[in-house]
Amino acid sequence: MVDVRVPSSLDEVFRLLREEPSARLFAGGTDVMVRSFPDTLRRGPFLCLERVEELRGVNESATEVRIGAATRLSELIASPLVADRFPLLREAARHIGAPAVRNMGTLGGNVCTASPAGDTLPPLYILDADVELRSLTGQRRMPISAFITGPGLTQLEEGEVLCAVVIGKAQGFNFHHFEKVGQRKAMAISIASLAFAARTGGDGTVVKARCAFGSVAPTVFTSRVLDDTFSGKTLDRDVLERAAAIIREGVDPISDIRASMEYRRQVAANLIMRLEGAGKDR
Ligand SMILES: Cc1cc2nc3c(=O)[nH]c(=O)nc-3n(C[C@H](O)[C@H](O)[C@H](O)COP(=O)(O)OP(=O)(O)OC[C@H]3O[C@@H](n4cnc5c(N)ncnc54)[C@H](O)[C@@H]3O)c2cc1C
Repeated sequence: MVDVRVPSSLDEVFRLLREEPSARLFAGGTDVMVRSFPDTLRRGPFLCLERVEELRGVNESATEVRIGAATRLSELIASPLVADRFPLLREAARHIGAPAVRNMGTLGGNVCTASPAGDTLPPLYILDADVELRSLTGQRRMPISAFITGPGLTQLEEGEVLCAVVIGKAQGFNFHHFEKVGQRKAMAISIASLAFAARTGGDGTVVKARCAFGSVAPTVFTSRVLDDTFSGKTLDRDVLERAAAIIREGVDPISDIRASMEYRRQVAANLIMRLEGAGKDR
């Protein structure tokens, strides 16, 4: 039998963590239950976060949007605030798994799994999202790019809970693009993904651009040099070919059952070429 506790408040979570410091947290369980089965399941106890109201929902202050860690991916997709402020994040979440996975899986779970293929991660890097962590002894906040330290690795310490992902409202992008290449159109872990956001003028000249790739490096691949390539330019073939060369040089993919290293490198470069002519007022 598996020992699962289902607290209904953060206070109760921390009380249970004090009693059982080795308890394993989960929210939707779509990563934990798959990866742990069957060995870790015997160990327990598990702490389920799905009924902790403080960890759910999308709220805004004057300057930031706070997305509770246990907010389900389907709730995130349905949020008018996310659709209005962060269409890139919404689009990426729409590409995760299938409806059943999105109805169980949470944003916090996707972040804490820290998979190089985690689909919400490239947009969160572009949006300079912070994570808010709490434990019995205090609270801390850090950029997601500092929180994720490697494939499956984060700064989360024992007894700590990811409470929210916090994103500044003032992003200033008017063009957004997310594309994921997998072995099929749905229910596929990405071979490579691209999140791209830019502020462009009416003629398509880029004022500022941010690019982030999933599945082509141990963590999300970003590059200041790459972002700067677009500044003051339109997204024409010359600029994109220069960007593609930087991407081929900069990414550090692995070969696995889904794709070879060489294929991933080429797909990442090809993804940027798909932006040709984009970003102009229609
Ligand atoms: C069939 C299938 C298809 C999938 N397809 C995709 C896909 O296309 N793209 C993709 O990115 N992912 C995919 N996934 C992976 C998974 O669904 C997502 O990563 C999802 O967001 C995980 O959320 P969860 O709440 O289920 O995580 P859980 O399994 O509950 O937890 C995942 C990890 O995060 C930790 N954790 C969760 N919440 C917290 C918290 N608040 N504080 C501290 N630690 C926490 C857990 O301890 C665990 O280590 C798929 C999974 C399945 C089973």
